[in-house]
Amino acid sequence: MIRATVRTSRKPRRCITCDRPAIKTGDRYREIVMSPNHNGLGYPGWMRGGECASCADTYGRGFLINNTNPSNPATHQPAESTR
Ligand SMILES: [Zn+2]
Repeated sequence: MIRATVRTSRKPRRCITCDRPAIKTGDRYREIVMSPNHNGLGYPGWMRGGECASCADTYGRGFLINNTNPSNPATHQPAESTR
């Protein structure tokens, strides 16, 4: 099973979707809890992580978070391109 809850972070944390420290203190984020071997994804144990508002937005579930202050697009770039 999988469960997602919208929470307000009390500390900075890493987003499991973009793998960046995109969640800051006071930010709303989705807390995702996955039971062992959900969908055969191969996680042997319980998986728990946070997803930032930008990612939620990207994947069409931003309305779930419905942040009061619109997230700054500049804070969410897929990856810095180095050249
Ligand atoms: Zn993210």
